[in-house]
Amino acid sequence: MISRTLFIKLSEHKGLRRFSEQSWLGRRVSSRFVAGTTVEEAMTSARQVNARGASVTIDNLGENVTREEEARACVGVYHDLLDRIAQQGIDANVSLKLTQMGLDLNESLARAHVSELVEHASRTGSFVRVDMEGSLHTQRTIDLVRAVHAEPGHSGHVGAVIQAYLRRSDRDVEDLLSDRIRIRLCKGAYKEPASIAWQAKSEVDASFERLMRTLLASGVYHGIATHDPKMIEATIRFAKDKRIDREAFEFQMLYGIRRDLQEQLVAEGWRVRVYVPFGEAWYPYFMRRLAERPANVLFLAKNIVRA
Ligand SMILES: Cc1cc2nc3c(=O)[nH]c(=O)nc-3n(C[C@H](O)[C@H](O)[C@H](O)COP(=O)(O)OP(=O)(O)OC[C@H]3O[C@@H](n4cnc5c(N)ncnc54)[C@H](O)[C@@H]3O)c2cc1C
Repeated sequence: MISRTLFIKLSEHKGLRRFSEQSWLGRRVSSRFVAGTTVEEAMTSARQVNARGASVTIDNLGENVTREEEARACVGVYHDLLDRIAQQGIDANVSLKLTQMGLDLNESLARAHVSELVEHASRTGSFVRVDMEGSLHTQRTIDLVRAVHAEPGHSGHVGAVIQAYLRRSDRDVEDLLSDRIRIRLCKGAYKEPASIAWQAKSEVDASFERLMRTLLASGVYHGIATHDPKMIEATIRFAKDKRIDREAFEFQMLYGIRRDLQEQLVAEGWRVRVYVPFGEAWYPYFMRRLAERPANVLFLAKNIVRA
């Protein structure tokens, strides 16, 4: 628990972030979880994942932009991704963060950015997933996704994320399902206080299983995002018991994590989508992955020594 807190604190450290993102060693180490820094590298990784039988969601790494021009530039990268996905026939959609779209600078501008991208995705038959960030942004994120989803032509082309560790999530799921919005269910990657979030793994897991059952029974296409074999088994068991079609939902996992499990699920005929992050601003994402499994530090260190 101490290590998790430490890594989450480090993920917010500006000096360390600047140093790491600019160093050769930093880039080398991060390549375990990050598919490179350019759109081209992301497309190459997406093609490789597709060849292994899984679909992809591509994330241009970056969060908390401090200038409107930065947000605009990021929107441009997502338009480029959506164009290339359609032109190259890649089985992929995109994932983005609202603070990257300028949410903390100008909320209506962020909404306009997302709306423009969802419009693009609906034209090309794709989909925009709005990732969920820390709890300061939860309500605004849900409100924005619902508003953009309600715009003409957008239904089914934008989705939300629900974090099982938040005590409020049952209510949020109910609200999103009332609009038949597609949801990615995950455990949650940030440090949240006990007043609003379950702290014990057993409590988070119980919440995850309960929410998973609600989602699978809803008849809307959702993503069950976890590497936890227990959560995956519970999902498969529930789907089989309730005779829920294999095409009616998908598992989602992160690039570079439990590739063996990704391949096993594909081989067993389940749908799997891999989250492929890329970009210069990889540091906070990378540190959250270490927070989830501090043993990764040893794994990475061994790889560097071996190289
Ligand atoms: C596709 C996808 C999208 C996500 N989007 C969001 C989001 O929008 N917002 C958000 O807050 N969180 C997001 N997350 C992160 C999520 O909230 C968890 O922090 C993360 O998935 C770890 O939880 P877990 O369910 O895998 O289970 P855990 O209980 O953390 O881990 C179970 C097992 O999975 C393996 N494992 C888990 N993490 C790692 C790791 N980093 N390295 C190696 N092995 C690991 C280990 O074997 C571990 O024992 C996303 C996760 C996925 C898979």
